[in-house]
Amino acid sequence: MRMRADLHVHTMYSGVGRLGKLRFPESIDKPEEIVEAARMNRLNILCITDHNSITGALMAREYSKRYDDIEVVVGEEVSTSDGEIIGLWLTERIPPKLSAEETVRRIREQGGIVIAPHPFSFHVPALNNKLLDLDVDGIEVLNGGHVDKYSNRMAYEVSKRHPGRWAEIGSSDAHSVTTMGYAWTEFDGENADDLRTAILEKRTIQCGVPVPVDKAVFWSIRVVFRGFKMILRSLFGILKPNPEDPLVTTVLRVPKQKRIAGIVGAMIYLFPPIPYLACIASNTWLNRKAKKLLDNISETLEKIEPSPPH
Ligand SMILES: [Zn+2]
Repeated sequence: MRMRADLHVHTMYSGVGRLGKLRFPESIDKPEEIVEAARMNRLNILCITDHNSITGALMAREYSKRYDDIEVVVGEEVSTSDGEIIGLWLTERIPPKLSAEETVRRIREQGGIVIAPHPFSFHVPALNNKLLDLDVDGIEVLNGGHVDKYSNRMAYEVSKRHPGRWAEIGSSDAHSVTTMGYAWTEFDGENADDLRTAILEKRTIQCGVPVPVDKAVFWSIRVVFRGFKMILRSLFGILKPNPEDPLVTTVLRVPKQKRIAGIVGAMIYLFPPIPYLACIASNTWLNRKAKKLLDNISETLEKIEPSPPH
């Protein structure tokens, strides 16, 4: 049977991201909400890969046991000193900031599978040429979060020059229920064990497209709006500490003055045209940079490896 899997999805356990001076939660969605969204998108296998954490993945796996139409695989997107690496079928968290080699070794020690997410990204930490020296099972030739025209194309070109070396993976890299379902991986099998075998035998197929811009805007509005509500409640003293909720814990740790600044920033951002304008501005920047890189893609490929025989 042809099955659908998403090998790269985040939950609210992915920590806090930074954009210059701005800080924002990487995701606000609970593990159970992500499982429900995966079922809505007719995914059979869902790999939860939070940044440097397996807490959300363990919770999602527990929650998914009530259903027989979805299986959850415990993973982690590890921030190594050489770029991000995904470990799947993990039993223990792997700490960040280790070298890529050491991270791969620790994934293997647990019997896990190694995936290179967005390996040639120019705007998030990626392995780039380091990929070629590592023992990696699969690479994302389609990362749904990369709307620029270079990153996925480069991964695809490099993969094509090494036929049979890596499983070709399509993943949403969704940080929200709204950005799931656009990119995924298909394989022939029945369950998560068969997905693992398909990756090892390089029989996976990448499917879908990067996420549409309006869905990404909607995600940013949801993140800012939820943050706005939480900060407001914290300032009125009605946000109760909850060790189970990493977002509440983070908000309560921020000094009051910074929280007030956050409220003002969120109000500005939520003013109707601004999320779209911010998105257009970031897309323009990405496209400009991607175009330059695309113009030189043949030379870049030549530099990292010889042309394949014709
Ligand atoms: Zn990710």
